[in-house]
Amino acid sequence: MVRVNLAILVVCTLIVLNQVAHASTKEYLSFEQTVLKSPEQHLNLTNKWKHTGEPADAELFLSALKARALFFAGHIERSKSEFSRYDAELKVQQFTWGAGYWYLYRSFFAIEQGHLDDAKRLVKQARRAFTHLKDSSMLVRVQAMEAIVAIWREEYSEALKSVQAAHAYIMRNDISDVSKLAVLDGLTAYYSTLKYHRKAIEFATQANSLAVQSQNILDGLPIKYNLCMALLRSKLVEKARACYQEMLSSAKQYKLPRYHFWANAGLGKVSLLLNEYENAVRYFEQAKKLEYIAIVNPAHLIVLRNNLAKALSAMEKYPQAQTHLQESLVILDNYQSPLNNRYMRRTLKLKAQVLELQQDYENSIDVLKRYIRLLEENELATKEVLEQEAQSFFEAEQHKLNLALTDEKLKAQAANLAELEKEEQLSRAYIFIAILSCLSIGLFAYLQRKASMVNRNFAYKDPLTELFNRRYFQEHIDKLSQKKQSYTLAMLDLDYFKRINDVSGHDVGDEILIRFSQHLKSHFRGDADVVCRYGGEEFVVVCQFMDVTQLTQRLSLLQTVLKEQLSHESEAVTFSAGVASSAEHPKDKIIKVVDELMYRSKRLGRDKISS
Ligand code: GH3
Ligand code: MG
Ligand code: MG
Repeated sequence: MVRVNLAILVVCTLIVLNQVAHASTKEYLSFEQTVLKSPEQHLNLTNKWKHTGEPADAELFLSALKARALFFAGHIERSKSEFSRYDAELKVQQFTWGAGYWYLYRSFFAIEQGHLDDAKRLVKQARRAFTHLKDSSMLVRVQAMEAIVAIWREEYSEALKSVQAAHAYIMRNDISDVSKLAVLDGLTAYYSTLKYHRKAIEFATQANSLAVQSQNILDGLPIKYNLCMALLRSKLVEKARACYQEMLSSAKQYKLPRYHFWANAGLGKVSLLLNEYENAVRYFEQAKKLEYIAIVNPAHLIVLRNNLAKALSAMEKYPQAQTHLQESLVILDNYQSPLNNRYMRRTLKLKAQVLELQQDYENSIDVLKRYIRLLEENELATKEVLEQEAQSFFEAEQHKLNLALTDEKLKAQAANLAELEKEEQLSRAYIFIAILSCLSIGLFAYLQRKASMVNRNFAYKDPLTELFNRRYFQEHIDKLSQKKQSYTLAMLDLDYFKRINDVSGHDVGDEILIRFSQHLKSHFRGDADVVCRYGGEEFVVVCQFMDVTQLTQRLSLLQTVLKEQLSHESEAVTFSAGVASSAEHPKDKIIKVVDELMYRSKRLGRDKISS
């Protein structure tokens, strides 16, 4: 009897405790709502839950919330010290709700700081905390944040996995508006980065109305920022301008320097697109005045300077343009981020172009050489990661087989390495040529006199589409098989292309080939995938780091985009494709295999992908 009573007591206590914990989560969320609606009134909030007996938990939650409000209002330094207040303490993992909340938004701030490794670690901690607490609504927010971290880290397949899972969840479940907004925001960022502008606009518009409807100012303005950017990127210039104007008036209304900055930077980009360079410079200069109080992420500072340089060089104010580029380079010197290489390359390329316009060819070439070194470093870094993966795989295998390397094998490896080095030099030459071809004829002509090899290597480009040609493709796959590197190959053939020529003439046919090539190319990574025109209206893609399923998915995304963006006589331009992996077919057969698979797609009715 006593035992039963005791058991009942324990159960009751647990229920009561549970309710307290539950109530406080609810309380947290409802307080979050209040702050999201009027962030500017909560910049000095103090802990009102000390009495609940869980000070650490409430403190963490409130600190992260306050830091978010401060950040939103543009008090960057205060936000930074608030966000880092618990950095040391939370090195030891904690699974309370407040800790989960802190990890989640601390990872957002780490992205802003450009600390992408920290961001990944922190969002993982948030996942652990909310998994432990079985809080699905917060886990969905975590997923959205994971997607954003992955996008910044250029890990796009990770990002896709996260946004898709989160999207499926919000479609099927009733979930708070704040979590839903986080997911729509992640979806916008994903599609916008991968240039599916229509989809990005669709999600951003949904998010924008949801934010307005739930009066969520704090999340609403970043969402507006994404919407404006998606409009701008899809060249809906007037809509983008209106969007940025609205942002500007909100920024004025709520006194938000961060959004003053974004609105001006955005209006500058609109002007740049419309070739209104004086206006562009004026807007960018306005933004620049606000950046020191409003912006942390060095990437934004660099983009602003580079845009200023673009506008100024269009006005032929080259020395001023160079001053801004120089500032970008100084910022880049202190920018410790995996993205350093990318922004450095963009800046150097711009610098080389401005130098070229100044007819300073010698310096332009020097800058280009730096650019090439970075491009190589970038490729080496990618290779290094892959090699490390291969290495650990190899070690595991070796352990199993208890294999020992003999002297002969070591010698053979050294010989292989020497061979590789030669190839490195060759690919260096190709890269150089590829970049030169991006620059204008003036510099090219100058260099032609200096190096006759440029001419020879142009034999690798198709002049109409500017893709690599069949010869390059052949040599590329030869090289991969020599190095025993596996790859996945796709062959694409446009459907009923003859009809386009017959109905509208060869010029229209050519134009469609060019636009198709641009779409095709934009769906693949420049450093890891090779896109070639195989001949006529046939194309091949060689991907080293995608399997058959992934490549098929990528191509089917391309099919969707083409349906929206490439048509002839109001009918979509479609293609049929075949996909196969070199792991399953020998080098001399694989082309035939993908060709046959492509014809199977034709037989199945076209606009299909077979593997
Ligand atoms: P399907 O592949 O779906 O069976 O039909 P199709 O009409 O595309 O097939 P086919 O291979 O018979 O026709 C390909 C056409 O592509 C024939 C040729 O005139 C055209 N073509 C090839 N190269 C070019 C080019 O550089 N420019 C233009 N405008 N047309 C080209
Ligand atoms: Mg054909
Ligand atoms: Mg065809």
